[in-house]
Amino acid sequence: MTPNPTFLTVDEALDTLLASARPIQVVESIPLQLAIQRVLARDQISPLDVPPHDNSAMDGFAVRMSDLTAQTLPQLQVTQRIPAGSQGQMLQQGTAARIFTGAPIPDGCDAVVMQEDTVSDGETIKIMQPVRLGQHIRRRGEDISQGSIILTAGTRLGAAQLGLAASVGLPNLPVTSRLKVAMLFTGNELVTPGHPLTEGQIYNSNRYVLHGLLTQLGCEITDLGNIPDNLEATRGALRQVATGHDLILTCGGVSVGEEDHVKAAVQAEGNLALWRIAMKPGKPLAFGHIGDTPFIGMPGNPVSTFVTFLLFVRPFILKRQGATDYLCSPLKVTAGFDWLKPDKRREFLRAQLSTSVTGTPEATLYPHQGSGVLTSCVWADGLVDVPSGRAIQAGDLVSFLPFSTLLG
Ligand code: AMP
Ligand code: MG
Repeated sequence: MTPNPTFLTVDEALDTLLASARPIQVVESIPLQLAIQRVLARDQISPLDVPPHDNSAMDGFAVRMSDLTAQTLPQLQVTQRIPAGSQGQMLQQGTAARIFTGAPIPDGCDAVVMQEDTVSDGETIKIMQPVRLGQHIRRRGEDISQGSIILTAGTRLGAAQLGLAASVGLPNLPVTSRLKVAMLFTGNELVTPGHPLTEGQIYNSNRYVLHGLLTQLGCEITDLGNIPDNLEATRGALRQVATGHDLILTCGGVSVGEEDHVKAAVQAEGNLALWRIAMKPGKPLAFGHIGDTPFIGMPGNPVSTFVTFLLFVRPFILKRQGATDYLCSPLKVTAGFDWLKPDKRREFLRAQLSTSVTGTPEATLYPHQGSGVLTSCVWADGLVDVPSGRAIQAGDLVSFLPFSTLLG
């Protein structure tokens, strides 16, 4: 089944968006502890070996293999004590050094015996187990060798990446500057939590969804809040954020109803392509520019906002930030459901992942897939991607986009 030809496919819309997502070039050097979620601007090369010296992987005793050849249980004199952070002496024949995890291996030592494999009287030890050459020694440079690339440009910095930079002694990292994103929400019905609802009103939930999603992506947010459904107010809001921002996001008002003013406002202030995308949820999506600033208008239904953000806005933002991993690779999982009346449009169904009786990951659908049901996004672990017109039977393999990646 082919989708309606006046509709763009998800891939066509994404390709067009990404083609215009120019990576920002401004780079700043910031301390490691501020660099979480930022995008690395340049490859990082290690100035040293990690670990910087051979060291013990255990609390135990540093020994010489040549002392352990006797048939009887070897007995050695303990002549030195080497805690982490100190340097031992040359290990003499017939002796052992008390050594602790992370302490440098003394010259002459070629194995460490863990303390559980010894019996000690305080001055000597007996070794109760066979010893292998090199055992329990962590070699200099076994993690990182001096001059190697430890992190590549375009990496999104998570906790492990920051630890790696610290392990080679880097106090700062060059990152692309934070993307400045303005957001506004159209709808006369919208009320901010903390204020009572009157007849016909609803709370603006998308504002908090977008705030959370943009924060997780490391963006700097300008929040214009709720804008009433009229052309002048919408134009005024757009003009207010047209400069000084890298992206303008709007939510709601991009359909073709009389109360949808975003389209006309963007056309008056800049230029606009209003797309109908063959997807469910989230059919309308607007894309354009106000001056030089890109603009993306998302539909207002909460699940549509959430899904269109994850599929379109997230990769657009990541690419502009210079990230290389801006697309989410789907997993293949088993359908734990039947989907026998497929839509012409490609669907993104909210699903939980569990382990099936055969041990494979299996997706189960939230029972109510309506585009206003935000509960489905809280319940789910990700989105099952159903191609247009494809019926699915329990046991079929389906593509699954995990929130662990999309919300990371
Ligand atoms: P619209 O895209 O403006 O036609 O809105 C579609 C539906 O989403 C309507 O039911 C709106 O009331 C609802 N809606 C729009 N914006 C928001 C928002 N910020 N928070 C929650 N619901 C919204
Ligand atoms: Mg509206």
